Amino acid sequence: MKENISIHWFRLDLRLSDNPALTNSAKHRHVLPIYIFDDLNSSEFKMGRASRWWLHHSLASLEASLEGNLSIYHGEPLDILNDIVARFNVKSVYWNRCYEPWRIVGDRRIKENLKAKGIEVESANGSLLWEPWTVKKQDGSFYKVFTPFYRKGCLGAEVPRDPLDPPQNVQYHKDEEFSLNLDALQLLPHIRWDKKMVQHWNIGEGGARVRFQEFINEGLPHYKDGRNVPAKPYVSRLSPHLHFGEISPNQLWYGVKSISADQNIEHFCSELGWREFSYSQLYYNPKLPRENLQSRFNAFPWFDNESLLRAWQKGRTGIPMVDAGMRELWQTGYMHNRVRMIVGSFLVKNLRLHWHYGARWFWDTLVDADLANNSAGWQWIAGCGADASPFFRIFNPATQGQKFDPDGRYIRRFVPEIAMLPDKYLFSPWKAEGYVLENANVQLDITYPSPIIDLKQSREAALAAFQSLKKRV
Ligand SMILES: Cc1cc2nc3c(=O)[nH]c(=O)nc-3n(C[C@H](O)[C@H](O)[C@H](O)COP(=O)(O)OP(=O)(O)OC[C@H]3O[C@@H](n4cnc5c(N)ncnc54)[C@H](O)[C@@H]3O)c2cc1C
Repeated sequence: MKENISIHWFRLDLRLSDNPALTNSAKHRHVLPIYIFDDLNSSEFKMGRASRWWLHHSLASLEASLEGNLSIYHGEPLDILNDIVARFNVKSVYWNRCYEPWRIVGDRRIKENLKAKGIEVESANGSLLWEPWTVKKQDGSFYKVFTPFYRKGCLGAEVPRDPLDPPQNVQYHKDEEFSLNLDALQLLPHIRWDKKMVQHWNIGEGGARVRFQEFINEGLPHYKDGRNVPAKPYVSRLSPHLHFGEISPNQLWYGVKSISADQNIEHFCSELGWREFSYSQLYYNPKLPRENLQSRFNAFPWFDNESLLRAWQKGRTGIPMVDAGMRELWQTGYMHNRVRMIVGSFLVKNLRLHWHYGARWFWDTLVDADLANNSAGWQWIAGCGADASPFFRIFNPATQGQKFDPDGRYIRRFVPEIAMLPDKYLFSPWKAEGYVLENANVQLDITYPSPIIDLKQSREAALAAFQSLKKRV
């Protein structure tokens, strides 16, 4: 190819519209859009199986939007970029910034290397409303508490940029010789556990747009209160689309704000603010995925128990609200936020297993697994994070079920073997008398487990463990 080429390197921005780096690269007319699957630099945070599955379909959709002109590679990004530069007449390379610590280090190295070759390199913000360094306190330090972060920091900063249209008059090219076929990345599972998951998602930029419109019609008008009820379709389920960048937070922000200004819209925007807060935490604490932000928790007396962990992972704890959440995750790759908090509290407080176990399981099984949100979410629920839920706030999964799934629709959907129990016992079948269980075709320990732990005793033990921690400090 003789033309001067600019490279657009897709990463977590798998879309054509509102893609600032793609718009920048399109100024040069001839663009080589590339995707590099890099599982060499992410150490223990290699993409989980559910994310790989999503990525496969998202790349397929992007490739179709580019009429086949997506070049796909697997390996070390610097080597691959150097190889492309050696074979094409590359003048410039563009990408949207990512914020995982390993990517920040890698990007810096790549930028220096390419610039030394005389290639123009430009990165842009395609994933956040406000990048971490634009939201700081007056004294220059970063916020550790959400409300001032969002209200003063974000809302007091420059307004987010308007969404961009997809670039026009671009000629996309393909590296016909060396591009891999998408299947060569082997992102799909060998054992096809994904068959059930497919029906829940419409993956790709077009699917994200449709989901957003459905949410505007059905969920947004009820969002503020309805977002806590897992059986209702009142949350957006846009998290995987946002994670992979099939839709941008700017499109969501201005999309809802253009409708009107009410409490539901403000609340939805503040949830996007929590996402920004997680990214800020990760940026300023690169050890967030590994280390307790509050170091006093380093001495917490965790248990180690493989069989309790397995029961939690498989949704076989005997506590219906927990099991429903873990099975929703397994079957759909997603779990409602309220239930993430319930199963998280149960794991770290009742079972007293380290939050790392929960974070790792979520990392592997969530389609929206996101290093910033997942790490911040687990540190929040474990009480050891920034602005975290206090450790002594221990959710009771039975009363949480009664409150947020009052007619039991969520539990009955995911734990069908106890569906015939009357509402009174649905959240705590172990309290039901023999004839109630019999009438509902439930045999404890045969058709459905007895609780793997006593909720009251384990709660008291967790509080005592927390007290012992306080005495040490
Ligand atoms: C233990 C735990 C682990 C979590 N792991 C992840 C994860 O890996 N990836 C992930 O995207 N979210 C994670 N979250 C945050 C939250 O549960 C999800 O973002 C939300 O449930 C996604 O559903 P939704 O798109 O329907 O949300 P909506 O309610 O429709 O919210 C819209 C968007 O706002 C953002 N958002 C909403 N709530 C939060 C929150 N509490 N923190 C940060 N951002 C938020 C998300 O990007 C979400 O897509 C976790 C929360 C907990 C408690």
